[in-house]
Amino acid sequence: MPYSDINPLDWSTVQPHVDALLATELGRDNAESWLQRWSDLTAILHESRSQIYREVSENTADEEAEKRFLLFVEQIMPQAKIAAQALKSKLLAFEDYTPQADAVMMMKRFRTEASIFREENVPLQSELVKLGNEYEKLVGGMTIEWEGKEETMPQATLHLREKDRAAREKAWRLMMARFGAERDRLNELYLQMLSLRRQVAKNAGFDNYRDYQWKEFARFDYTPDDCFTFHDAIEHEVVPRAAQLYAERAEKLGLDPLSPWDTEVDLHGEPLHPFEDAAELEEGCYRIFQQVDPVLAEYFTAMRDGFLDLASRPNKAPGGFCSSFPVRRKPYIFMNAVGTHRDVGTLLHEGGHAFHFMESSQQPLIWNYGSPMEFCEVASMAMELLSAPYLEKSNGGFYEEADARRAHAEQLHGIVRFLPYMAVVDAFQHWVYVDAPQDVAAADLDAKWSELWNRFMVGIDYSSLQAEKETGWHRKEHIFSVPFYYIEYGLAQLGALQVWRNALTDQSQSVADYRAALVLGDTRPLPELFSAAGATFAFDRETVGDLMTLIFEKLAELER
Ligand SMILES: [Zn+2]
Repeated sequence: MPYSDINPLDWSTVQPHVDALLATELGRDNAESWLQRWSDLTAILHESRSQIYREVSENTADEEAEKRFLLFVEQIMPQAKIAAQALKSKLLAFEDYTPQADAVMMMKRFRTEASIFREENVPLQSELVKLGNEYEKLVGGMTIEWEGKEETMPQATLHLREKDRAAREKAWRLMMARFGAERDRLNELYLQMLSLRRQVAKNAGFDNYRDYQWKEFARFDYTPDDCFTFHDAIEHEVVPRAAQLYAERAEKLGLDPLSPWDTEVDLHGEPLHPFEDAAELEEGCYRIFQQVDPVLAEYFTAMRDGFLDLASRPNKAPGGFCSSFPVRRKPYIFMNAVGTHRDVGTLLHEGGHAFHFMESSQQPLIWNYGSPMEFCEVASMAMELLSAPYLEKSNGGFYEEADARRAHAEQLHGIVRFLPYMAVVDAFQHWVYVDAPQDVAAADLDAKWSELWNRFMVGIDYSSLQAEKETGWHRKEHIFSVPFYYIEYGLAQLGALQVWRNALTDQSQSVADYRAALVLGDTRPLPELFSAAGATFAFDRETVGDLMTLIFEKLAELER
């Protein structure tokens, strides 16, 4: 191993290798091998970051792990960024380099990143990260008092599933009141971030922050106008369908109208309870993956050797994610399973991300692992849908027939209900960063959110809940911390639905296409990745309408 002397927590053992790369004279004959050396060095740092992050997530009480994490974040990562920028500049300055076909997109990304980089934006961006952390701290620290006990917001949200309507309403109102108490602070925080972002864009030579962020996210294959086309398609093809689902829900619950605290309660009584412990979850999902594709099941088997941490336990970080270890070529899944259907969905979803890593890491260069975010979520969302026929015990999964149908139907309901909300979040930000006046005030933001809510979120009664409605943007972390990052989920869902549609007629062909797209990694534009997966990268009314028709045909079949 040429890099065996590296200690990832001591930058002085890394810098000599960076210096050696910087000192190498680039020529046509050595550019490829130089890139490979840089890629291998990057892989070692990526591997260390994954390992260190894994250790703090698996045991938040491990103080030594916490120290390593802080050391890495505060000292190693900034150095690594500076080194990467220098190496990138060196490569871009070497004009004789003609990238091979698989490196063309990577070079385009490098050039774009370099073109928007401005020294004077570095402190502004650090300030934005700090303000983002402040939002997280403020919201993450919120609690309500429930029957004499303090509960966090995620805990309080569980009351929205209670059968007792008065309890649901009480929990919902307590949560809203808690956010309401921070209304001024959240307004102030966001306006501060808005003004910093406008400055960042200006420094980089853009008229508005949306144009800047478009480059930052390397959105080469669609424009703001395409987003508006998608919003319009959702308004006409999805909103009436979602309203229909809400009306059916209201009828089943014997309510009219449906209030915001009535959207989560289970219509079937008892919640699904698919497994007792993590071992059962792991085994069940393995059997499902086997039914979807034996090679994917083999990838999963390889992870069962120390790269799954599924069960919830004390001192484990919340949430779930999939990360990767490029040196050992292993993906890793972290989650907090407690025995719900949501846990099954999470493992199937993260499994899709893990398979994406296994396929795309066949690419020689680390920058081509994964793909644009719009396609990463196709890998995971499609895996949830491809798994649906096997949720039933007799097909490998967890449930008796009726429960399997119910789980599948709920998944499809979730997709229909998500798209209109996604449109609100996206359309709001287009307005904020492009159309809002320079001296925009919090009341204007509220009014815009409210207008968009009325346009897209039809079927839930907010008529006497104006304050709660218009401050909805306070409750969406992405709006504060990762502006414009959200439509990716909507675009990816359309891709995933198309993969699923193909599988309904020919599963083995559809899965073969899915894998063929995954293995391309980040080497192709989005339309090519979608097309390799057997899907079209389109979001017009016809595409969206056809997929909604498919979903509702399937729902009719499942609910028969
Ligand atoms: Zn995901």
